[in-house]
Amino acid sequence: MYRNGLELLKLTEELNCTIAEILYKKEDEYCDKPQKMVHNNTKEILKVMRNSSQAAIDHPEEYMGHIIGGDAKKMNDYSKTKTYSGSFITKAMARAFSSSEVNASMGKICAAPTAGSCGILPAALFTAEEQLGLDEESLINGLLTSAVIGEIITMNATVSGAEGGCQAECGSAAAMAAGMLVILKDGTPEQALNASAIALKNIMGLVCDPIAGLVEAPCAKRNASGVVNAMISADMSLAGVKSIIPFDEVVDAMFKVGKALPITLKETALGGIAKSKTAQVIQNEIYKRD
Ligand code: SF4
Repeated sequence: MYRNGLELLKLTEELNCTIAEILYKKEDEYCDKPQKMVHNNTKEILKVMRNSSQAAIDHPEEYMGHIIGGDAKKMNDYSKTKTYSGSFITKAMARAFSSSEVNASMGKICAAPTAGSCGILPAALFTAEEQLGLDEESLINGLLTSAVIGEIITMNATVSGAEGGCQAECGSAAAMAAGMLVILKDGTPEQALNASAIALKNIMGLVCDPIAGLVEAPCAKRNASGVVNAMISADMSLAGVKSIIPFDEVVDAMFKVGKALPITLKETALGGIAKSKTAQVIQNEIYKRD
């Protein structure tokens, strides 16, 4: 039905429908999944996301990884004080930390688009829900919009850190969340892809360098900053700020940058932060312990 952002936008205009409605049509026509099935599946995904984005705030002791743990609660407590970035952003960061900590402790998350970047989308979604008073239908539509954006990135580039660096994981998650946030605030499909382009450009070139090869650090903090990236990108787009480079070209550029990255910076833990002195000490301790 569509292979890129431009074709998607043309379809929304021709059929006079939303991105989520396009997804329903596509799943029905090409994948034999009627709207009710997609809707119900998305509801289930919402439940998993809601839980992961709150669990480590409420029960930090249950969600300790090898390296990380406890930051979701710290961030949430801090969000109730006078902060630089305000409670909206700091709460979203707490939620992003929570899903990352649930993932680090082998809890249940929704890989959106990957486990490493699982905190960004739920954090954006449920913080928007709280801020804007959204109902479940709006959340489902937002989530489906983000799915289409992620699908287009996957078709034309990659969402894998091992293939394209962290820009492909946390960058794609932020792009998906930015587009979703625009739609949740009644923006247009064009504004949604514009926000996605801005978010992806903001962290273009970010390497994948997990300490000890574990999806914990610097991953969790990149999720916390990733949701902020999504929010500011959505706000820029809703304010009328245009990405000079269109979404499809940004996706293409991200893929080329990913291919150009050396293998040491693509999830091998052979470069970047993973090769720092402290990371090496942590890695040795973990593997000695285990
Ligand atoms: S650093 Fe690598 S493993 Fe961690 S979130 Fe980014 S892409 Fe995923």
